[in-house]
Amino acid sequence: MRIVLLGAPGSGKGTQSQRLVKEHGIPQISTGDLLRAAVAKGTPLGVRAKEAMDAGRLVEDEIVLGMIRERLAEPDVANGFILDGFPRNLLQADALDALLTELGQPLDAVVQMDVEYDELMRRISGRRSCADCGAVFNVLTTPAQQIENDKCPKTGEPHKLFQRPDDTEETVAKRLKVYEEKTRPLIDFYRGKGILQTINAEGDVEEITERLEEALQAATVQTPAAAAKRKAAAKKKAAAKKAVAEKAPARKAPAKSAAQKATAKKAPAKTAAGLKRAAAAKKAAGKGATTKAAGKTAGKKAGAKGTRRRTAVAKAGRKTKSAPARRTLAKKKSAVKKAGKRSR
Ligand code: AMP
Repeated sequence: MRIVLLGAPGSGKGTQSQRLVKEHGIPQISTGDLLRAAVAKGTPLGVRAKEAMDAGRLVEDEIVLGMIRERLAEPDVANGFILDGFPRNLLQADALDALLTELGQPLDAVVQMDVEYDELMRRISGRRSCADCGAVFNVLTTPAQQIENDKCPKTGEPHKLFQRPDDTEETVAKRLKVYEEKTRPLIDFYRGKGILQTINAEGDVEEITERLEEALQAATVQTPAAAAKRKAAAKKKAAAKKAVAEKAPARKAPAKSAAQKATAKKAPAKTAAGLKRAAAAKKAAGKGATTKAAGKTAGKKAGAKGTRRRTAVAKAGRKTKSAPARRTLAKKKSAVKKAGKRSR
């Protein structure tokens, strides 16, 4: 499954991504994490990105797109991924579209995580991360004892919590403004593509995960890939049905009489006129008369009979000429003969 989680800073994209990673076994790709790692390593890209990040601005598209291209080329994304914090503007969304089209791996769903402004501020100002394992806690909503008891998997010690430099109130206000201006237009962009789902991302973390899973399910049912799958299944079902029908012994229809055939031919439609014609034809057939088609056949038969009778009578006539007629004929013949002799 290829997913984008869309939402303002503090909307819980990171927290929910980690839950999806566990549930679906696909990697989370967070451009914020990739950039922070580059900053921590002091790479040339990290150095270029740091200033923008500290000021709450977006890092240059060229840097972010280069990172995404490299990350999407890695083998662990073959079964899908969760994009968290990318794309963040229309140019990035277009570039992602082109890249995924090239890879033949279009997005299945974009989920917009909806959270009120005040709640975003509260979440971000209470956010702390572990310097060793990166786990995120909110000191305003999670009891201190619980955080204390949750040991860091890297060190086995209590988490070493710190506040991100861009999570200060001033920078957060700036980041939220950037979100409204640059990232919010992506909601319409993905709605236009028919792959947008929106969930209420406020409340219990578990409940938000449930809403997210429901949204993903709804989205995957509607994707072109899912539609193609449904179409293929329907085609297969129809082919199987046809094969069964062809295998079954064909039932022989009882032979139709000429009148029945004529009726079927004349009155196929169940219109009032058709039914009337059919009834009339049936009645006529019962009396030995015919419809037009049957009449033609019967007429032909009768015509043939008449011809045969005339031939027989003619033959009989030649054989059975009466005696006076035979005498008259002989007289005529001899007169002609005499006349012939005289003229020679
Ligand atoms: P995040 O952890 O996603 O809140 O990102 C922290 C900071 O990294 C942002 O305030 C930006 O300065 C930068 N950043 C993260 N993702 C992007 C991106 N897709 N495009 C530009 N800048 C980004």
